[in-house]
Amino acid sequence: IGFISQSDPAVGAAMKEELKRQQRNLEMIASENLVSPAVMAAMGSVLTNKYAEGYPAKRYYGGCQYVDAVENLARDRACELFHAEHANVQPHSGAQANIAVYFALLNPGDTVMGMSLSEGGHLTHGSPVNISGKYFHFIPYGVDPETGRIDYDKVYETAMKEKPKMIVAGASAYPRIIDFKRFREICDACGAYLMVDMAHIAGLVAAGEHPNPVEWADVVTSTTHKTLRGPRGGLILCREEYAKAIDKAIFPGTQGGPLMHIIAGKAVCFGEALKPEFKDYGHRIVENAAALADGLMKRGVRLVSGGTDNHLMLIDLSGMELTGKELEQRLDAVYITANKNTVPNEQRSPFITSGVRLGTPAITTRGLNTQDMDKIAECISFVINDFNARKEEIRAMVTEICSHYPLYE
Ligand code: PLP
Repeated sequence: IGFISQSDPAVGAAMKEELKRQQRNLEMIASENLVSPAVMAAMGSVLTNKYAEGYPAKRYYGGCQYVDAVENLARDRACELFHAEHANVQPHSGAQANIAVYFALLNPGDTVMGMSLSEGGHLTHGSPVNISGKYFHFIPYGVDPETGRIDYDKVYETAMKEKPKMIVAGASAYPRIIDFKRFREICDACGAYLMVDMAHIAGLVAAGEHPNPVEWADVVTSTTHKTLRGPRGGLILCREEYAKAIDKAIFPGTQGGPLMHIIAGKAVCFGEALKPEFKDYGHRIVENAAALADGLMKRGVRLVSGGTDNHLMLIDLSGMELTGKELEQRLDAVYITANKNTVPNEQRSPFITSGVRLGTPAITTRGLNTQDMDKIAECISFVINDFNARKEEIRAMVTEICSHYPLYE
C-alpha cells in the first residue's frame, strides 16, 4: 500500500482506509476470508502480464511454458484435494463457473431446478434477474418452513413432475449439511444431471467437515475465496466424461484469456488446503460457528433451523420490529461487518429483509476461539435488544476482542 500511495495517492488512501477497516472490524460476512501472504503475493505478481488463451500445452500464445506449469499445479492439486477426475481452474468467478456448466450441458429453455434465492440459493441458480433465469426454465425448490431444512420429499415430488434436465444443489445461506446422496437419488429417479455449487462450503469439504459432493455429482462448481481461503475466483470439477465439454464451455465458450496470477493464487491456496493445518482450520470454523449459535440462542436470539452445522447462521427477526437492514447498520456502527439476508417465508423486500447472515471463516482465520464467540454473541444480543443505551460499550468490547488478534501488522 505504501508503494501505491506514492505512485497514486488517491487509490492508496482508499486502500489504507480499507486496511484499517479490516483491522478494526470483526469480519463476519459468511462468504469472506483473509488470504495468506503467499496467496496475496501470487495475485500481485508478474503473472498478470501473461496472455494464455487455451489450456496447458494447447495455447494460442507463445511463451506459456511457465504459466503452463502453474496451471498444471493448480489443476492437479484441485483434483487431489477434492478427489476429482478433472479440474478447470480458469473460471474468473463462481458465477462464471456456473454459467459455463449450463452452457456445456443445457440448451436454452431447458428445465432446471435450483434453490430459490429467498430461501438460501444463489442468483445464478435461476433468479429471474440473472442470465440463468432468463435463458433456462428454472423451477425453484426451498426449505420446509417449520424446520428451515431442505424439503427433500418436495424436491423429489417436483422433480418427478417437471422432469428437469439438471438439478442444482448448493446455497449461499443454508446453515445445514446438504444431503448430496439424496440429491443423486432424486436425479437418478428423474433422469437429471446433478450439479453441486459448493462455493460456500468448499473449505469445509477440503477439511473433511462436510460430505464431499464430488462423490455424487456430475459436475461440482465452487468459488475459491470463501471457506477455501484462496484468491477471488471460480473452479469446476467434473467426471472425465464431461471434461472436454466443460473446458470448451469456459474457453472459448464464455471467457477469453485466463487470469494466470489468480490461477497461481489458486495453486498456492490448494497447496495450503492440502496441509494438515487446514483440517484444523476447517474444524475450528465449525466449532466457532456452533459456539456462536449457542451463545446467541441462549440469549434468546432466534436462528433459522435452530442452529448450524457449518460455517454460517441466519438470525431470524421475522415478527420483530427490527429489520435485517437496520441490524446490519447497527452492527456496522459497532464494528461488526455482516449482511442482511432474506429468511424462509420472508415477508419483507430483499432490500429490507428479516434476517442477518453471520459466518465464522474470516474471524477463525484471524485466530478467534470459542470463548471469543460467546463474547461476540453477547455483543450481538446487546445490539438487538439495547442498542442505543449500550452502543459505546459494545464498540469497546469489539475493539478489545480485535486488539488480541492483530491483522496484517
Ligand atoms: N455460488 C454461490 C453458492 C455463492 O454463494 C456465490 C457468491 O456469493 C457464487 C456462486 C458466485 O460467486 P462470485 O461472486 O465469485 O461470482
